[in-house]
Amino acid sequence: TSIGVMKESEPGEHRVAVVPAVVPRLRELGCDVLVENDAGTGAFLPDSAYTEVGAAPVGEAELLERADVLVCVRPPDAGRVERMRQGQVLVGLLEASADPGRVPALTRRGVDAVSLDLLPRTLSRAQSMDALTSQASIAGYKAALVAADAYGRYFPMLMTAAGTAKPAQVLVLGVGVAGLSAIGTAKRLGAQVTGYDIRPETRDEVHSMGARFLDLAGVTVADGEGGYARALSDAEREAQQEALQQRIGEFDVVITTALVPGRKPPLLVTQDALKGMRPGSVVVDIAAGPHGGNVEGSQPERSVLIADGVRLIGAGNLPSAMAPGASAAYARNITALLAHLIRDGVPRIDLTDEILAATVVSHAGQARQGGGAR
Ligand code: NAD
Repeated sequence: TSIGVMKESEPGEHRVAVVPAVVPRLRELGCDVLVENDAGTGAFLPDSAYTEVGAAPVGEAELLERADVLVCVRPPDAGRVERMRQGQVLVGLLEASADPGRVPALTRRGVDAVSLDLLPRTLSRAQSMDALTSQASIAGYKAALVAADAYGRYFPMLMTAAGTAKPAQVLVLGVGVAGLSAIGTAKRLGAQVTGYDIRPETRDEVHSMGARFLDLAGVTVADGEGGYARALSDAEREAQQEALQQRIGEFDVVITTALVPGRKPPLLVTQDALKGMRPGSVVVDIAAGPHGGNVEGSQPERSVLIADGVRLIGAGNLPSAMAPGASAAYARNITALLAHLIRDGVPRIDLTDEILAATVVSHAGQARQGGGAR
């Protein structure tokens, strides 16, 4: 079996699915490893680093022709899918719900597709494969650093001969994996941190990190399925926006990380709320994507200055901004999944297996729903 590591097709995506450090483990599974030329360059991994551990750099055409299992981080573009071949297996964060045409295109080509974002995350034997968690944790960490960098004052309280600087007040909206990581990082930088989420169990998690929990008057608690939030009704969402608007002026920095599986991100912070913030405040929206984000007006990978001096940073792909670290973590996740998939040197799509039943979205010419996280 040949494992083929694709160069990412998405513009601005610097991660790579396999780093040289995991190549020996893949070879132990009885596989050859092919790497598309320049696949690791964005993560400072030249082709020679792969050659040194026994992987073979190849051109795109040869990769698509020879690989039995193709691995990627983000979904390959449509042109590449059209050049895949029947019976090939594709593994990556395929985000089937983001584009309704994606899985049908793979199915038409007869490609068996495994989507890591559908992994059943509460299953303990799947934890080493949980790329959503590894990448969200990096995004949260980096979001706090981006915010600290853009903020024109100190995060910590500092007493100096030139006077005392007050600590920054940081609010983290959405306390899942990314939010907790942002809270931890902002705390380590010395800020005073407050967290908020609609899932009630997050209150204890926020307190356990030494942060405060923001109580929003009159806002619903919205626990969904499987430890995720449910989408709010229009009325609930408006109540939440209004309550947040009342409180947001207390904070210098806001980091938003709220997501609802399979839905567009909930809008938490309106333009009116932004206008209630002090000049010089910073908002980092890591939910910002092509379909909006948690903050009205945020644009993916763009930083905009709101008229009153509030900087709004749309930061939807922070893991790519930490490509070396994010690729290393992702590569360990994908290696764990491949070790599960490849038996006696051959990939086996066993749909009675809980992990594969949840993550396989295309098999033997048929699209499947998948049943995991999203
Ligand atoms: P996510 O990325 O889907 O969402 C991020 C956060 O946004 C969630 O905490 C969610 O409640 C919150 N949110 C959604 N709508 C909101 C709104 N309108 N207002 C405020 N907050 C809102 O979630 P995630 O980080 O992937 O993980 C969510 C849960 O899954 C967590 O409880 C996490 O601990 C759990 N999880 C468990 C495991 C495991 O058991 N191994 C692994 C990973 C995650």
